[in-house]
Amino acid sequence: MNVLIVYAHPDPNSLNAALKHYAIQRLQTAGHAVQVSDLYAMEWNAKLAASEIPKLENHRADILREQEKLLWADTVIFQFPLWWFSMPAIMKGWVERVYTLGFGYGVGEHSDVRWGDRYGEGTLTGKRAMLMVTAGGWESHYSPRGINGAVDELLFPIHHGILYYPGMEVLPPFMVYRTGHMDDARYAAICEELGQRLDTLATTPPIPFRRQNHGDYDIPVMTLKSEIAPGVEGFKAHLHQPPSLL
Ligand code: FAD
Repeated sequence: MNVLIVYAHPDPNSLNAALKHYAIQRLQTAGHAVQVSDLYAMEWNAKLAASEIPKLENHRADILREQEKLLWADTVIFQFPLWWFSMPAIMKGWVERVYTLGFGYGVGEHSDVRWGDRYGEGTLTGKRAMLMVTAGGWESHYSPRGINGAVDELLFPIHHGILYYPGMEVLPPFMVYRTGHMDDARYAAICEELGQRLDTLATTPPIPFRRQNHGDYDIPVMTLKSEIAPGVEGFKAHLHQPPSLL
Protein backbone atom coordinates (compact mmCIF):
# COMPACT_ATOMS: atom_id res chain seq x y z
CA MET A 1 0.00 0.00 0.00
CA ASN A 2 1.12 3.58 -0.64
CA VAL A 3 0.94 5.82 2.42
CA LEU A 4 1.29 9.61 2.40
CA ILE A 5 1.95 11.32 5.73
CA VAL A 6 1.13 15.02 5.72
CA TYR A 7 2.98 16.28 8.76
CA ALA A 8 3.05 19.60 10.59
CA HIS A 9 5.41 20.23 13.49
CA PRO A 10 8.25 22.75 13.46
CA ASP A 11 10.59 20.94 15.88
CA PRO A 12 12.56 17.92 14.59
CA ASN A 13 13.14 16.86 18.22
CA SER A 14 9.48 16.92 19.23
CA LEU A 15 7.25 14.09 20.33
CA ASN A 16 5.50 14.38 16.99
CA ALA A 17 8.79 13.99 15.14
CA ALA A 18 9.57 10.84 17.12
CA LEU A 19 6.13 9.39 16.38
CA LYS A 20 6.48 10.25 12.70
CA HIS A 21 9.81 8.45 12.60
CA TYR A 22 8.27 5.43 14.32
CA ALA A 23 5.31 5.40 11.91
CA ILE A 24 7.52 5.53 8.82
CA GLN A 25 9.65 2.65 10.05
CA ARG A 26 6.65 0.57 11.05
CA LEU A 27 4.95 1.09 7.68
CA GLN A 28 8.10 0.43 5.67
CA THR A 29 8.90 -2.69 7.67
CA ALA A 30 5.42 -3.96 6.81
CA GLY A 31 6.25 -3.47 3.12
CA HIS A 32 4.38 -0.24 2.45
CA ALA A 33 5.74 2.65 0.38
CA VAL A 34 5.77 5.91 2.34
CA GLN A 35 6.02 9.52 1.27
CA VAL A 36 6.07 12.38 3.76
CA SER A 37 5.05 15.97 3.20
CA ASP A 38 6.88 17.61 6.12
CA LEU A 39 5.29 21.02 5.79
CA TYR A 40 7.67 23.04 7.99
CA ALA A 41 10.76 21.35 6.53
CA MET A 42 9.41 22.00 3.02
CA GLU A 43 8.74 25.64 3.99
CA TRP A 44 5.26 25.11 2.61
CA ASN A 45 3.63 28.32 1.43
CA ALA A 46 0.37 28.30 3.36
CA LYS A 47 -1.06 31.46 1.82
CA LEU A 48 -3.59 31.00 -0.95
CA ALA A 49 -2.88 33.67 -3.59
CA ALA A 50 -5.62 35.66 -5.27
CA SER A 51 -4.50 34.20 -8.60
CA GLU A 52 -5.13 30.67 -7.28
CA ILE A 53 -8.85 31.26 -6.62
CA PRO A 54 -10.26 29.39 -8.47
CA LYS A 55 -8.30 29.25 -11.70
CA LEU A 56 -7.03 25.82 -12.65
CA GLU A 57 -4.42 27.17 -15.06
CA ASN A 58 -2.60 29.01 -12.31
CA HIS A 59 -1.73 26.02 -10.22
CA ARG A 60 1.83 26.25 -9.07
CA ALA A 61 4.31 23.37 -9.14
CA ASP A 62 4.18 22.94 -5.36
CA ILE A 63 0.41 22.38 -5.50
CA LEU A 64 0.65 19.90 -8.36
CA ARG A 65 3.33 17.91 -6.51
CA GLU A 66 1.06 17.54 -3.49
CA GLN A 67 -1.90 16.56 -5.66
CA GLU A 68 0.24 13.88 -7.32
CA LYS A 69 1.16 12.52 -3.88
CA LEU A 70 -2.52 12.36 -2.92
CA LEU A 71 -3.38 10.53 -6.14
CA TRP A 72 -0.48 8.12 -5.51
CA ALA A 73 -1.56 7.33 -1.95
CA ASP A 74 -3.94 4.56 -0.90
CA THR A 75 -3.99 5.97 2.62
CA VAL A 76 -3.28 9.50 3.81
CA ILE A 77 -2.27 10.23 7.41
CA PHE A 78 -2.48 13.80 8.65
CA GLN A 79 -0.22 14.14 11.69
CA PHE A 80 -0.20 17.26 13.85
CA PRO A 81 -0.30 18.64 17.40
CA LEU A 82 -3.72 20.02 18.30
CA TRP A 83 -3.27 23.79 18.28
CA TRP A 84 -6.24 25.85 19.34
CA PHE A 85 -8.55 22.90 18.84
CA SER A 86 -7.56 22.30 15.24
CA MET A 87 -4.67 21.67 12.87
CA PRO A 88 -1.72 24.08 12.76
CA ALA A 89 -2.19 26.96 10.31
CA ILE A 90 0.45 25.62 7.94
CA MET A 91 -1.60 22.44 7.42
CA LYS A 92 -4.82 24.37 6.94
CA GLY A 93 -2.95 26.35 4.29
CA TRP A 94 -1.91 23.09 2.66
CA VAL A 95 -5.57 22.08 2.39
CA GLU A 96 -6.64 25.49 1.11
CA ARG A 97 -4.05 25.48 -1.68
CA VAL A 98 -3.93 21.77 -2.62
CA TYR A 99 -7.72 21.23 -2.71
CA THR A 100 -8.22 23.21 -5.90
CA LEU A 101 -11.38 23.64 -7.95
CA GLY A 102 -11.98 20.43 -9.87
CA PHE A 103 -9.72 18.49 -7.49
CA GLY A 104 -10.85 19.06 -3.91
CA TYR A 105 -14.18 20.68 -4.66
CA GLY A 106 -16.41 21.51 -7.61
CA VAL A 107 -16.21 17.91 -8.84
CA GLY A 108 -19.09 16.31 -10.78
CA GLU A 109 -22.35 17.63 -12.14
CA HIS A 110 -25.43 18.79 -10.29
CA SER A 111 -28.83 17.37 -11.19
CA ASP A 112 -32.17 16.78 -9.48
CA VAL A 113 -30.80 13.61 -7.89
CA ARG A 114 -27.13 14.43 -7.52
CA TRP A 115 -25.25 17.31 -5.92
CA GLY A 116 -21.88 16.85 -7.55
CA ASP A 117 -19.29 14.40 -6.25
CA ARG A 118 -18.52 15.09 -2.61
CA TYR A 119 -19.04 13.60 0.86
CA GLY A 120 -17.85 10.10 0.06
CA GLU A 121 -17.52 10.67 -3.67
CA GLY A 122 -14.93 12.72 -5.52
CA THR A 123 -11.32 12.82 -6.69
CA LEU A 124 -10.03 10.85 -3.68
CA THR A 125 -12.69 8.11 -3.66
CA GLY A 126 -11.32 4.71 -2.68
CA LYS A 127 -8.61 6.13 -0.44
CA ARG A 128 -8.52 6.05 3.34
CA ALA A 129 -7.49 8.82 5.70
CA MET A 130 -6.60 8.98 9.38
CA LEU A 131 -5.69 11.80 11.73
CA MET A 132 -2.79 11.28 14.12
CA VAL A 133 -3.11 13.99 16.74
CA THR A 134 -1.32 14.89 19.97
CA ALA A 135 -3.03 17.07 22.56
CA GLY A 136 -1.91 18.65 25.81
CA GLY A 137 -5.35 18.17 27.37
CA TRP A 138 -6.44 15.02 29.18
CA GLU A 139 -8.61 12.40 27.51
CA SER A 140 -11.42 13.20 29.98
CA HIS A 141 -11.31 16.87 28.89
CA TYR A 142 -12.26 15.63 25.39
CA SER A 143 -14.87 13.07 26.50
CA PRO A 144 -18.56 13.51 25.58
CA ARG A 145 -19.18 15.72 28.64
CA GLY A 146 -15.66 17.08 28.90
CA ILE A 147 -14.94 20.80 29.15
CA ASN A 148 -13.15 20.99 25.78
CA GLY A 149 -15.96 19.36 23.87
CA ALA A 150 -16.11 15.79 22.58
CA VAL A 151 -13.11 15.03 20.41
CA ASP A 152 -15.23 13.54 17.61
CA GLU A 153 -17.22 16.75 17.45
CA LEU A 154 -14.09 18.94 17.47
CA LEU A 155 -12.63 16.88 14.66
CA PHE A 156 -15.86 16.67 12.67
CA PRO A 157 -15.01 19.66 10.42
CA ILE A 158 -11.69 17.99 9.50
CA HIS A 159 -13.06 14.46 9.23
CA HIS A 160 -16.22 15.32 7.34
CA GLY A 161 -15.39 18.65 5.71
CA ILE A 162 -11.78 18.01 4.63
CA LEU A 163 -11.26 14.24 4.40
CA TYR A 164 -14.70 12.83 3.54
CA TYR A 165 -15.63 15.79 1.32
CA PRO A 166 -13.28 14.86 -1.58
CA GLY A 167 -14.16 11.17 -1.22
CA MET A 168 -11.85 9.55 1.33
CA GLU A 169 -13.11 7.04 3.88
CA VAL A 170 -12.16 8.35 7.32
CA LEU A 171 -10.78 6.07 10.03
CA PRO A 172 -11.18 6.87 13.73
CA PRO A 173 -8.33 9.17 14.78
CA PHE A 174 -5.20 8.06 16.63
CA MET A 175 -5.06 10.38 19.64
CA VAL A 176 -2.32 11.00 22.18
CA TYR A 177 -3.58 13.04 25.13
CA ARG A 178 -1.80 14.72 28.05
CA THR A 179 1.48 15.04 26.20
CA GLY A 180 3.09 16.90 29.09
CA HIS A 181 3.09 13.63 31.05
CA MET A 182 5.42 11.50 28.98
CA ASP A 183 8.10 9.08 30.05
CA ASP A 184 9.84 6.23 28.27
CA ALA A 185 7.33 3.60 29.39
CA ARG A 186 4.33 5.63 28.25
CA TYR A 187 6.07 6.50 24.99
CA ALA A 188 6.72 2.81 24.33
CA ALA A 189 3.06 1.98 25.03
CA ILE A 190 1.92 4.75 22.68
CA CYS A 191 4.20 3.43 19.92
CA GLU A 192 2.76 -0.04 20.39
CA GLU A 193 -0.78 1.29 20.15
CA LEU A 194 0.13 3.36 17.10
CA GLY A 195 1.76 0.31 15.54
CA GLN A 196 -1.49 -1.64 15.89
CA ARG A 197 -3.39 1.13 14.16
CA LEU A 198 -0.84 1.28 11.33
CA ASP A 199 -0.94 -2.50 10.92
CA THR A 200 -4.73 -2.37 10.47
CA LEU A 201 -5.09 0.70 8.25
CA ALA A 202 -6.61 -1.37 5.44
CA THR A 203 -9.13 -3.21 7.62
CA THR A 204 -10.25 -0.73 10.30
CA PRO A 205 -13.92 0.18 9.76
CA PRO A 206 -14.29 3.84 8.75
CA ILE A 207 -16.49 6.37 10.52
CA PRO A 208 -19.95 5.67 9.02
CA PHE A 209 -20.71 9.08 7.50
CA ARG A 210 -23.77 9.26 5.29
CA ARG A 211 -23.35 9.70 1.54
CA GLN A 212 -25.01 12.73 0.11
CA ASN A 213 -26.28 11.18 -3.15
CA HIS A 214 -27.66 7.93 -1.75
CA GLY A 215 -31.10 8.90 -0.61
CA ASP A 216 -30.64 10.34 2.89
CA TYR A 217 -30.74 14.01 1.88
CA ASP A 218 -33.26 16.16 0.05
CA ILE A 219 -31.60 17.60 -3.03
CA PRO A 220 -30.94 20.49 -3.61
CA VAL A 221 -31.56 21.82 -0.09
CA MET A 222 -29.19 19.15 1.26
CA THR A 223 -30.92 18.61 4.58
CA LEU A 224 -31.63 15.16 5.92
CA LYS A 225 -35.00 13.80 4.89
CA SER A 226 -37.51 14.10 7.72
CA GLU A 227 -37.78 10.31 8.10
CA ILE A 228 -33.99 9.92 8.51
CA ALA A 229 -32.84 10.04 12.16
CA PRO A 230 -35.86 12.08 13.27
CA GLY A 231 -35.07 14.42 16.14
CA VAL A 232 -31.29 14.10 15.71
CA GLU A 233 -29.50 17.33 14.84
CA GLY A 234 -25.96 18.56 14.45
CA PHE A 235 -22.88 16.48 13.60
CA LYS A 236 -24.33 13.19 14.87
CA ALA A 237 -27.13 13.30 12.33
CA HIS A 238 -24.66 12.66 9.51
CA LEU A 239 -23.67 9.23 10.82
CA HIS A 240 -25.45 6.05 9.76
CA GLN A 241 -25.18 4.37 13.13
CA PRO A 242 -27.09 5.43 16.23
CA PRO A 243 -25.80 8.75 17.56
CA SER A 244 -24.48 7.12 20.72
CA LEU A 245 -21.55 5.85 18.66
CA LEU A 246 -20.27 9.38 17.93
P1 FAD B 1 6.68 17.86 22.77
O1 FAD B 1 6.46 19.12 23.53
O2 FAD B 1 7.83 17.80 21.84
O3 FAD B 1 6.85 16.65 23.80
C1 FAD B 1 5.87 16.33 24.78
C2 FAD B 1 6.51 15.46 25.83
O4 FAD B 1 6.97 14.25 25.24
C3 FAD B 1 7.75 16.10 26.46
O5 FAD B 1 7.74 15.80 27.84
C4 FAD B 1 8.91 15.41 25.79
O6 FAD B 1 10.05 15.36 26.60
C5 FAD B 1 8.34 14.04 25.56
N1 FAD B 1 8.98 13.35 24.43
C6 FAD B 1 9.30 13.87 23.23
N2 FAD B 1 9.88 12.93 22.45
C7 FAD B 1 9.93 11.80 23.20
C8 FAD B 1 10.43 10.49 22.95
N3 FAD B 1 10.99 10.17 21.79
N4 FAD B 1 10.33 9.58 23.93
C9 FAD B 1 9.76 9.87 25.11
N5 FAD B 1 9.26 11.12 25.40
C10 FAD B 1 9.34 12.06 24.45
N6 FAD B 1 -3.49 21.29 23.61
C11 FAD B 1 -4.81 20.96 23.63
O7 FAD B 1 -5.18 19.95 24.23
N7 FAD B 1 -5.73 21.73 22.98
C12 FAD B 1 -5.39 22.86 22.30
O8 FAD B 1 -6.24 23.52 21.72
C13 FAD B 1 -4.00 23.24 22.29
N8 FAD B 1 -3.60 24.36 21.63
C14 FAD B 1 -2.26 24.64 21.56
C15 FAD B 1 -1.85 25.75 20.83
C16 FAD B 1 -0.50 26.04 20.69
C17 FAD B 1 -0.08 27.21 19.87
C18 FAD B 1 0.46 25.22 21.35
C19 FAD B 1 1.92 25.52 21.21
C20 FAD B 1 0.06 24.13 22.07
C21 FAD B 1 -1.30 23.81 22.18
N9 FAD B 1 -1.75 22.69 22.89
C22 FAD B 1 -3.07 22.39 22.95
C23 FAD B 1 -0.77 21.71 23.42
C24 FAD B 1 -0.24 20.84 22.27
O9 FAD B 1 -1.29 20.09 21.70
C25 FAD B 1 0.85 19.92 22.75
O10 FAD B 1 1.88 20.74 23.25
C26 FAD B 1 1.38 19.05 21.64
O11 FAD B 1 0.38 18.19 21.16
C27 FAD B 1 2.56 18.20 22.11
O12 FAD B 1 3.17 17.60 21.01
P2 FAD B 1 4.70 17.92 20.69
O13 FAD B 1 5.13 17.06 19.57
O14 FAD B 1 4.88 19.41 20.50
O15 FAD B 1 5.34 17.43 22.06
